[in-house]
Amino acid sequence: MRVSFCTLGCKVNQYDTESMMSLFAEAGWDIVDFGEECEVSLINSCTVTATGDKKTRQMASRAHTKNPEGIVIVAGCGAQKAAEEMLALPGVYVALGNKNRSLAPELAARAWETREKHNAVGDIMKERVFEELPAMTDGRTRATLKIQDGCNRFCSYCIIPFTRGPVRSRQPENVLKEVKRLAAEGFMEFVLTGIHLASYGRDIETDLIAIIERVCALDGVKRVRLGSLEPLILTEDFCARCAAQSKVCRQFHISLQSGCDSVLARMNRRYTADEYAHGIETLRKYMPEAAVTTDVIAGFPGETEEEHRKTLEFIARIAFARVHVFPYSRRPGTKAAELIDLPKRVKSARAAELIELGRRLEHAYIDSALGSVQSVLLEQEDASGRMTGYTGTYIHTAVNGGSHGEIVDVKLLKREGETALGEIAGDSAESANE
Ligand code: SF4
Repeated sequence: MRVSFCTLGCKVNQYDTESMMSLFAEAGWDIVDFGEECEVSLINSCTVTATGDKKTRQMASRAHTKNPEGIVIVAGCGAQKAAEEMLALPGVYVALGNKNRSLAPELAARAWETREKHNAVGDIMKERVFEELPAMTDGRTRATLKIQDGCNRFCSYCIIPFTRGPVRSRQPENVLKEVKRLAAEGFMEFVLTGIHLASYGRDIETDLIAIIERVCALDGVKRVRLGSLEPLILTEDFCARCAAQSKVCRQFHISLQSGCDSVLARMNRRYTADEYAHGIETLRKYMPEAAVTTDVIAGFPGETEEEHRKTLEFIARIAFARVHVFPYSRRPGTKAAELIDLPKRVKSARAAELIELGRRLEHAYIDSALGSVQSVLLEQEDASGRMTGYTGTYIHTAVNGGSHGEIVDVKLLKREGETALGEIAGDSAESANE
């Protein structure tokens, strides 16, 4: 039997799709490209914008036209929100939301056989247990493990708490078991992610720093990278304990969204710009070399020119190593969706200013690292035959020599755009296998 996948929306959906792919492969299915002939097409849908819903319908229709006898499954946030609407689409036999994803192969086989429509979407708001899904792997070097799902924060612009439900954490034993298995297969870098990673453990009486320490203690683990965190996690205890773990990459993605208190309050972000700055100060006290990256929303409803300026000033003050800018986009069903949107040209102009500032800061950060020696996990060859990878501080680096999957010490010599060019220092390749 053949199955194809189409992922819409965010990185978390990408993760869930890859996990479901592994489950289908384990169950003996052949995975083919979306749009090819197959018995089952799975669309992992997104509902964050009206466009997301439209795309889901388009993809379901495309899958059905290509394989009129096939089964279409709609999984993810779109199905979570509107299961019956999805099931009414031609060819859609299974609606699978943000739970029961581990049952996808079984539900697909059953629908193929019985041709009965099945609504497998559960009430996500009542979900209390983390659903085990396999890690997402990238070649043979880096594995991403989702260790937490759901969010209790209810930021005013975000639909996630409604589509992904409350905080659920993966049991430490299961995290460690999977990391051990992947490390034995040769994976070196482990990225721990979640929807609201800082909440890890709150439902199972542990916390994020405890699982970080346990993962770092495992043989074969060379690097641990953390997904996006909120600033309030940056306490003395957290930062000191992270600093004590040499395997923790010195790159921290700390969501900002706005550098202006009044906008943060309207976003229901639960911290002030000063509290954010204090967290970064603490982080840098223990890890002065750390790269701090962030996300920011341009043109939140009601944002004045002055509020926008405050955000620009704040970003420059923090001197981020990278800034991801998202022009505000309305999510129906959220509190912010009731506010009056700013004109598109204002949002675009503010986004452009933030992007330009972010680019300057990124260059300045890379420039400040020139001359230093940093470990780089080599992952890919670029068009000119150089090996490329990232430093622990997430500087994209290119070198001559070295081979795929090696961790080498590289002296950073020069910046070319957003890439640092360097040379391998001494016989550092050995250190990868220590
Ligand atoms: S933005 Fe992040 S913290 Fe806020 S509600 Fe959404 S997932 Fe939760």
